[in-house]
Amino acid sequence: MSEEFRAGRDFAVALDRADPLGRLRNEFHVPRRGNGEEEIYFAGNSLGLLPKRTRKYVDDELDKWSRFAVKAHFSGENPWMPYHELLAAPMARLVGAKPGEVVTMNSLTANLHLMMASFYRPTRERHRILLEERAFPSDDYALESQARFHGFDPDEALVRVRAEDVASGLERDGASIALVLLPGVQYYSGEAFDLEAITRLAHAKGCVAGFDLAHAAGNLVLRLHDWDVDFAVWCTYKYLNSGPGSVGACFVHQRHGARPDLPRFAGWWGHDKESRFRMEPGFRPIPGAEGWQLSNPPILSLAAIRASLDVFTEAGGMEPLREKSVRLTGYLEWLLRGELAGSVEILTPADPNRRGCQLSLRVQAAGSGKSVFEKLDASGVTCDWREPDVIRVAPVPLYNRYEEAWRFVEILRESL
Ligand SMILES: *Cc1c(COP(=O)(O)O)cnc(C)c1O
Repeated sequence: MSEEFRAGRDFAVALDRADPLGRLRNEFHVPRRGNGEEEIYFAGNSLGLLPKRTRKYVDDELDKWSRFAVKAHFSGENPWMPYHELLAAPMARLVGAKPGEVVTMNSLTANLHLMMASFYRPTRERHRILLEERAFPSDDYALESQARFHGFDPDEALVRVRAEDVASGLERDGASIALVLLPGVQYYSGEAFDLEAITRLAHAKGCVAGFDLAHAAGNLVLRLHDWDVDFAVWCTYKYLNSGPGSVGACFVHQRHGARPDLPRFAGWWGHDKESRFRMEPGFRPIPGAEGWQLSNPPILSLAAIRASLDVFTEAGGMEPLREKSVRLTGYLEWLLRGELAGSVEILTPADPNRRGCQLSLRVQAAGSGKSVFEKLDASGVTCDWREPDVIRVAPVPLYNRYEEAWRFVEILRESL
């Protein structure tokens, strides 16, 4: 280890002191190991940490349940009937949408299917789906099953391309593609896609542009409305810190939200609010994303999401968080390149505009990746391992520190 690197710890501590968002770490419970020390938690891309205020938000709803039971749907503070509406504005801000374009419901994969019921309307001439070569398995299964559901052979209907071949793939096959479905940030490599450019290209070819923002929501600055994205889905347990299996969210562009004629799989919670409790047949969708709701939502999960969104609001939204994120991840990358250039390969693009906070690392010495990962874990670092040979680390601007990036590199060096 160089002298310079050792001295770098003071530099990292100084960066933390000067960090205007540094106070936010105190909003979270950081797990501790047996020795009582806080972990270096770089797994916020997998499961975000618990905000301290979440307990109170959830407790408030349990309290209402115990005291008012069914009446809590309509009375008291934040009645349950319109509870999901409390989430619309802050969730919309997070992804650059209008409040009516966003709804918090179901889970990511379920929402993807619901969105495809409306926006994947294949014809014989135009029925293919453009996706990435290494799509997240759930997305892959969903798309494959949708193609099959509509009577197409997935081997023919799914056009799998590498990230750098999206434009040429659209150029080549655009006329036969009904839907482009890509991630905001690739879960394995950490590469960010240019959603604005992809949407423009897709629309130019007459295709629908939909995105999976599982690794982008709460990570990147998004402008879904202005980019004219057709629909998007995401989950809230990764960067949105809302707890294991928490409810997902989805975006439907205003252009589509105003179309009651769009085919969809309907449920009573998507029905016109005024007449919902007349309990009569004849579905009339609520205008906007809410019109895709099926069921009355799990309030305890929504309460946790509300708590988390309030922390994002306190942080000043995505812009300042992203600014810190670019610095924090850039700092980690700089340390890795300076100290471990020969032994650690960074798979994630070096251009900050082409990535979020995550770096995907490959340890060079053949076959040693898993043992390095295990040593990291034994030394108090929580990150994650993806077969066959990648360690993903995600320093999250809401609660991670520069000093943790420094210590991570020190521990990684010792683990090699
Ligand atoms: C995490 C993740 C999912 C998870 O889907 P669920 O339906 O929430 O279980 C799906 N797609 C991508 C790309 C993910 O990263």
